[in-house]
Amino acid sequence: MTARPTRQPGLRQHVSADDHVAFVDLRAQTRALQPALTAAMEAVLRRGDFVLGEDVSGFEREFAAYCGVDQAVGVDSGLSALELALRAAGIGRGDEVITQANTFIATVSAILAVGARPVLADCDPQGAVDPAAVAACISPLTAAIIPVHLFGRIGDMEAILSLASAHGLAVIEDACQAHGAVWRGKRAGSFGLAAAFSFYPAKNLGAFGDGGMLATSSPDLADKARLLRNYGQRTKYEHEATPLNHRLDTLQAAVLRVKLPHLDRWNDRRRQLADRYRDRLADAPVETPPADEGRRHVYHLFVIGVDGRDALRATLTSAGIETGIHYPIPLHRQPVLASLGYGEGRFPETERLAARSLSLPMYPELPLDHLEDVTASIRHWLHG
Ligand SMILES: *Cc1c(COP(=O)(O)O)cnc(C)c1O
Repeated sequence: MTARPTRQPGLRQHVSADDHVAFVDLRAQTRALQPALTAAMEAVLRRGDFVLGEDVSGFEREFAAYCGVDQAVGVDSGLSALELALRAAGIGRGDEVITQANTFIATVSAILAVGARPVLADCDPQGAVDPAAVAACISPLTAAIIPVHLFGRIGDMEAILSLASAHGLAVIEDACQAHGAVWRGKRAGSFGLAAAFSFYPAKNLGAFGDGGMLATSSPDLADKARLLRNYGQRTKYEHEATPLNHRLDTLQAAVLRVKLPHLDRWNDRRRQLADRYRDRLADAPVETPPADEGRRHVYHLFVIGVDGRDALRATLTSAGIETGIHYPIPLHRQPVLASLGYGEGRFPETERLAARSLSLPMYPELPLDHLEDVTASIRHWLHG
């Protein structure tokens, strides 16, 4: 650990710009992968195959193999991957789709986009959808369940899959935070009928802009998704399915192909940082995510639970330490979803997490002295 005079752990009061502890900093990763990134992009410029070019199909093959599925379809965002998975599975108006109340809005956006009704369920204390709560939501209209591998941790998929098979429901994984996560030897994206990944820059595998992937082992679903992402056409200007445009850019695919071979190493680093956070906060009155329980959590986010979260967050902010809240307003209390008719207090575990959760800086290149500053500042606040 470097001891710079301006850094006094726990007593960070006057913070200069270079003393700032960022929540995520993407620059170090981009630097580390030069000149390969520039070479990959220049190759696209030379070829000029900007739309559905050779890097798109190459990256689809590589990402499918990585996830352990037969097919992957490159799309323009994680939201599009979710939407096209639902559409390709034939889910739409008149159907209900169950997902969790604590997730990013995009999970529900996709359900709304296809005209289906989102049905929300509560989560377990780690933020994964609670299978018992899902079971209680199943109705004759239920068509699918979207479990979210929130924060990079896969929940109890066995329970979800057995509910789905007992009731004839599709399972579509929201794996947008879980690239490379493993549960019982299987990677995120390989459990359901289909899965959605996001390559938003700050995700575990991030592009230089928006991007996404639909993973599936169903050739039929993959074929439909390929039609749907490209104006419903198999042959140019012959449109046999809903004519949408959700293609992955070749430039983004070229960047992602350079990055994919590093993903496991980056996730290992996230897991080491999580271990260190746990160690440094071991005897402090905060909840930390439990170490592995037979799964490979990939820590898209490292989320602690603490009483007085807002005061702690303000203290950290004034010490130059960025944090996040995932998510401050649960879906059932979002104004745009008011018509679903869920009241305050309906999902107690989700609301408890919304009130207590604090996401600490987490990215593979996070300097250890930043992590030490974060934990020292938290301990100082707790004991102050
Ligand atoms: C990021 C994210 C999405 C959406 O991904 P975009 O690429 O931003 O559309 C969906 N679900 C979850 C849980 C996410 O974190």
